[in-house]
Amino acid sequence: MNCNICNHTSDLFLTSTIFKEKTKISYYKCSNCGFIQTEEPYWLEKAYSDVIAKTDIGLIYRNNIFSNITESILDNFFSTTKKALDYGAGFGIFVRIMRDKGYNFLWYDDYCQNLFAETFEGKLDEKYDVLTAFEVFEHLPNPIETVEKLLTLSDTIIFSTVLNDGVTDFDKWWYRTEVSGQHVSFYSEKSLNFLAKKYKLNYVSCNNKSLHVFTKKEINKNNFNLLFNNSNTIIERLKRKLITKKIPQKETLLQKDHEKIINKILNT
Ligand SMILES: [Zn+2]
Repeated sequence: MNCNICNHTSDLFLTSTIFKEKTKISYYKCSNCGFIQTEEPYWLEKAYSDVIAKTDIGLIYRNNIFSNITESILDNFFSTTKKALDYGAGFGIFVRIMRDKGYNFLWYDDYCQNLFAETFEGKLDEKYDVLTAFEVFEHLPNPIETVEKLLTLSDTIIFSTVLNDGVTDFDKWWYRTEVSGQHVSFYSEKSLNFLAKKYKLNYVSCNNKSLHVFTKKEINKNNFNLLFNNSNTIIERLKRKLITKKIPQKETLLQKDHEKIINKILNT
């Protein structure tokens, strides 16, 4: 089998089970970039019979964390952002939170019903200043194809995926999502670096290397790391001061969005 990221040979790494029924599947690991992939995932229809798995109780927690970090990334490094798309937006919780904070985020998801961001759907034939894709990459059977598609939509992709570096017992790793069987691609830092190089992107990450930024724009890596990857409390305090000083308060879109929805209902 060839690696879905760098095309190098990927060797059988583990045979394990998914689903309650204990379906046996194989995992392959690339000796060049460290990317781990499952065998051709023939089970996805079953895995997505419940799009957002009942076992995913971290949904709200993640949306809180990701919205705070995204806000900070946008304010500090992409402050000219006028329009952003949340790709694989799920129920629309993240889009609603970001709009409440005053950022013009739009919703897109091929599989999930939009519950919280109706009226704010994005289209795939438009360009966006920033695109976010949270907990999407590990679901992709063909990451290259999707990355290329996303790069036609935006020059900046903020995405989350937990890296496999340092995982000692992959079989027992929670991110393998044994019960739902939805995760099929497990990235290493090296594999993300490979993608960044291939598409001439600048690459930074934060939140314990679970949140990543690919961008064609210049990004000051030192400042990024100072802001997001420094546990020094004095610097933490300093940062907060710097950030609050620099950034003008955004006005929430809540009121305007509400009016828009009311008008839409009254006029249809
Ligand atoms: Zn590889």
